[in-house]
Amino acid sequence: HTGDIKVLLLENVNKTGQDILRKQGYQVEAIKSSLPEDQLIEKIRDVQVIGIRSKTQLTASVLKHAKNLIVIGCFCIGTNQVDLKYAAENGICVFNSPFSNSRSVAELMIGEIIALARQFGDRNTELHNGIWNKVSAGCWEVRGKTLGIVGYGHVGSQLSVLAEAMGMKVIYYDVTNLMGLGLSNQVPTLDHLLQLADFVTLHVPEIPETTNMMSTHQFEQMKKGSYLINASRGSVVDIPALIHASQTGKLAGAALDVYPNEPGGNGAHFTNDLNTWTQDLRDLKNIILTPHIGGSTEEAQSAIGVEVAESLVKYVNFGITSAAVNMPEVTLRSLTMEEPNHVRVVYIHKNVPGVLRKVNEILGDHNVDKQMTDSRGDVAYLMADISNVNTSEIRELWQSLEDLGSRIRTRVLY
Ligand code: NAD
Repeated sequence: HTGDIKVLLLENVNKTGQDILRKQGYQVEAIKSSLPEDQLIEKIRDVQVIGIRSKTQLTASVLKHAKNLIVIGCFCIGTNQVDLKYAAENGICVFNSPFSNSRSVAELMIGEIIALARQFGDRNTELHNGIWNKVSAGCWEVRGKTLGIVGYGHVGSQLSVLAEAMGMKVIYYDVTNLMGLGLSNQVPTLDHLLQLADFVTLHVPEIPETTNMMSTHQFEQMKKGSYLINASRGSVVDIPALIHASQTGKLAGAALDVYPNEPGGNGAHFTNDLNTWTQDLRDLKNIILTPHIGGSTEEAQSAIGVEVAESLVKYVNFGITSAAVNMPEVTLRSLTMEEPNHVRVVYIHKNVPGVLRKVNEILGDHNVDKQMTDSRGDVAYLMADISNVNTSEIRELWQSLEDLGSRIRTRVLY
């Protein structure tokens, strides 16, 4: 029953998302902050659904207490804060919101490209300090300049369109061959891009291959007087190498929105021991430092609330895993389960030989209207709509599936 579903929302999940979950009749507890681990463990025992943002760490040691949890909603883009493998192996599906803030990031890039080209971060700071410093040397229009986009995904491709509208020439580098939007062109290697671009922006995911993707060699490839912007992830840029490139004048400016170690909350000082370079970074000329605000707009937050909450509802009510981060994507379109004596069986199981034969022996006593199964790594997901099931038989059906050795989690939805 939807009224029995308990949802815990942490870190001030947007109201659009809370409203969607409450409208379902779920019992929703929304807390504005993240929780210390002991309190999190206490609360997570009880709930079927948890919604978090980037600060709550759902590690295996936390999740092992979450015996009732069926789904995690990350109301953000990143999912590094969740042990996705542990979650999948324990039948906990994870959703995020991959695209809701792409436009916000792309717009910030446009702002920063112009801000760097006109050195207006420095002019602004100077005048705040009472110093009038009108200069045109080293300040440029962006029209006709080349923008090199590294990673041509959701953010990169949005930025490509916006930058061309300002008269920039756009080139991009991506590990995948992608059709360029407008007049933009793909280049074969990162070095090609770095040698040609006046502005380089990074929009790659945080994966082992992108760690320190911009380091000493790459800064050497860049044009003298070019600019670098990173709003992807902090691990992508080797910051001491960036500081060196700025100090030597190779870079005319840079903007960073993300850092290898980001403070846990607002108000914290950007000088923790792990970042020995923070003071050098702050002392550079024409460097814009923002506290991971690329996706922080009202529009993006409300879109994230809707996107993730809708994924949670579809999963809780119908077992649909479309766009899941850690599970096979399985859906059956028409919901015959809403008819009398129809149920939907969701059987999350270990991906080992012989399971389907055993499952179908159990389901075979009924009429299987539709069935779909898919696997991802060690975990497989089966969804079947079956008819001729009396309410009294549901428990037995569930128990027979639960008793199979391959079972991770069984749900019978009706
Ligand atoms: P995406 O997955 O849509 O696109 C990433 C692109 O990078 C893909 O086209 C992929 O093929 C490409 N890629 C992967 N590995 C590569 C490599 N080694 N070299 C070159 N290209 C590679 O991601 P997105 O939604 O566009 O997000 C891009 C980045 O921005 C991510 O790191 C994301 O976490 C970050 N982001 C930051 C903020 C912020 O607030 N600053 C907000 C949203 C996204």
